[in-house]
Amino acid sequence: MPASPSPPVRGGPDACPGALALHQAADGHLARIRCPGGLLTAGQLTVLTAAARDLGDGRLELTSRANVQIRGVTVAAAEALAGRLSTAGLLPAPGHDRARNILGSPLAGVDSVPGWDVAAQVRALDAAICGQPQLTRLSGRFLFAVDDGRGDTVSARPDVGLLPGTDGLVVVLLAGVDHGLRTGHRDAVRVAVAVARTFVADQRAVDGTIWRIGDLTAAEVARVVARVATEPGVHRVPAADRRPLPRQVPVPPVGVLRRPDGDHALVLAVPLGRLTAEQADLLAAASPQLRITPWRAVVLPTVTDAADWADRLRTAGLVTDPGSPWLGVTACAGRPGCLRSRADVRADATAVHGHRFGVDAAAVHGHRSDLAHVGLPVHWIGCERGCGTPAGQVVRVLATGDGYRVSATGRSTVHVPPGAALAVAVRTAREES
Ligand code: SF4
Repeated sequence: MPASPSPPVRGGPDACPGALALHQAADGHLARIRCPGGLLTAGQLTVLTAAARDLGDGRLELTSRANVQIRGVTVAAAEALAGRLSTAGLLPAPGHDRARNILGSPLAGVDSVPGWDVAAQVRALDAAICGQPQLTRLSGRFLFAVDDGRGDTVSARPDVGLLPGTDGLVVVLLAGVDHGLRTGHRDAVRVAVAVARTFVADQRAVDGTIWRIGDLTAAEVARVVARVATEPGVHRVPAADRRPLPRQVPVPPVGVLRRPDGDHALVLAVPLGRLTAEQADLLAAASPQLRITPWRAVVLPTVTDAADWADRLRTAGLVTDPGSPWLGVTACAGRPGCLRSRADVRADATAVHGHRFGVDAAAVHGHRSDLAHVGLPVHWIGCERGCGTPAGQVVRVLATGDGYRVSATGRSTVHVPPGAALAVAVRTAREES
């Protein structure tokens, strides 16, 4: 059984913030608003933007689970924030505030014809979770994923992943592992909820000493699988027919995309995942529907006058250039938002990826850089906790107090001071790992 042989030891209930349970940070309280599948209407984005302007620090942060955060909220503003979110449909079941963690393949139907309707499945799963009182016990870290078949969300090893195959069946993955569970499209949501219900039936989930499927021993995972296999519409395939976890999907493209139906979509990366209110207003004006991605980008699934909007949004500071050094770059809050941080990681990341030190990929390669030269994702962190680290292979740039430790799988770790040497070390790690 491929579950972790040494599950992590949890000290108690997780402290993941929500829209109601705010987290006290150094720069005020932080609200995390769940956006299942990263799906937002323009109206909901407008409400979030107004809330950030009126009640927060004026920006929207995009998270690695395609959720949205507002920083700098005061205690006095918490009730007003909850009221606005509720009216906009962003807090449909207050008791499930932190339980609605659902990834959905953001490019489904945009660059390919998906195996099923991802958005519809995400909405159905969200409604099913909110309809189960016992799922209020899920930790704020328990994660579902609805994939379109390419593997971009299940490669994040969600606790429950739904991966449609070409045979008309859906693979139900637990913590990214295929245990042979198969079901049909119409039963997939019910089966995903059955996994979650089985998990929270464990008293330790109630006590908060297990948070995720990966906290279970192999024998315990086997019992969950055996229980779920008895659900109507579920069958198990032999070990020989099981699938390996899909490979990590490279940093996806940005810019104008031509959809299979002939319309156009627009994909924009958001530098360090921080949207200004002005950028958010423009996005809401450009498209009635939006999808936040786990890699801190925004997909506008159907856009009229896509090239014009791309120009306007690029001018506003969003990234549409597939050769941009900002692609795949993320950071935790760092200073001044987090007291644990040893550095202002966002400022240092901006210095490096904004080419302040003159280390330009085009100059290095002698031609315009492209996705092949963007290389591995890179995540900047202010301490070992590593908040927001993307799933899969990634270059970690960890603040040490007198510089940064740059590490990536398969490469020796280097410690360098901020400045040009750091820029070179990060770029080298991304390209050669
Ligand atoms: S990784 Fe450390 S410094 Fe960064 S936000 Fe998390 S706790 Fe704070």
